Amino acid sequence: MSKLRISGVSRTFPPAGGGKAVRALEPVTLDVADNDFITILGPSGCGKSTLLRIVAGLSQPTTGQVLLDGEIVTRPGPDRGMVFQSYTLFPWLTIKENICFGLREKGVPAAIQNERAAFFIERVGLRGFEGHYPKMLSGGMQQRTALARALANDPKILLLDEPFGALDNQTRALMQELLLGIWEQDRKTVLFVTHDIDESIFLANRVLVMSARPGRIKSDIAVNLPHPRDYKIKTSTDFARYKAQLTEEIREESIKAMIAMQA
Ligand code: ADP
Ligand code: MG
Repeated sequence: MSKLRISGVSRTFPPAGGGKAVRALEPVTLDVADNDFITILGPSGCGKSTLLRIVAGLSQPTTGQVLLDGEIVTRPGPDRGMVFQSYTLFPWLTIKENICFGLREKGVPAAIQNERAAFFIERVGLRGFEGHYPKMLSGGMQQRTALARALANDPKILLLDEPFGALDNQTRALMQELLLGIWEQDRKTVLFVTHDIDESIFLANRVLVMSARPGRIKSDIAVNLPHPRDYKIKTSTDFARYKAQLTEEIREESIKAMIAMQA
């Protein structure tokens, strides 16, 4: 059985203010194996966030269903750790309190909360910042906190929606290495949405390319680059081959998306 099964999931948004209904997603069917790191690549507006929100249980599918370990997803839950592009930390809580938030909600004893928080604070390189408030930290540090918070709950799957999209290039590259390093140790199942081709190849063992809206999975490409990976792999000939292929596919979809917007 697959870890995550997305089965015939589509989404149409009802018309707003006398307009037309928006068909955001064509039926999508996808099996995600345990320990997969899947990146979902597609042009803006193709339904990537819609799909991820449905897996998170934040949005309901119009048709189809999502099964996580065989159970139908109907609402958000601690078994799915989410990180979004815009910082979603609680501004009134410290870094440590943010990381402990889900554990506290679950009624985990304080001693265990402290232990888990310390472990993940160390792992994302935030030691010394436990008592800081989010606004005192850089964007990269805030996203490391969000990642630590998601991991501290020990979710079955991590759902990341352009988590590094608002960061500068240097920070972004470091965050990719950090996340990949964590994955290489834990092999947690990950669904990671991005519109950055390099990021999609560097992180994944499988890249899904989505078509222009209404989104569907246009191709499913296995990335057979060895682990552990570091930034140097981005200059390898194998990497360049994946990049050429994906650039071509994304270009076609981006042109379609642009034409659809003008129509
Ligand atoms: P992506 O994340 O790939 O950029 P989204 O999933 O955010 O795309 O959006 C897909 C399409 O669905 C877009 O055309 C968007 O405008 C539309 N859409 C997303 N959310 C809503 C909503 N709540 N109501 C109406 N339309 C929406
Ligand atoms: Mg999006």
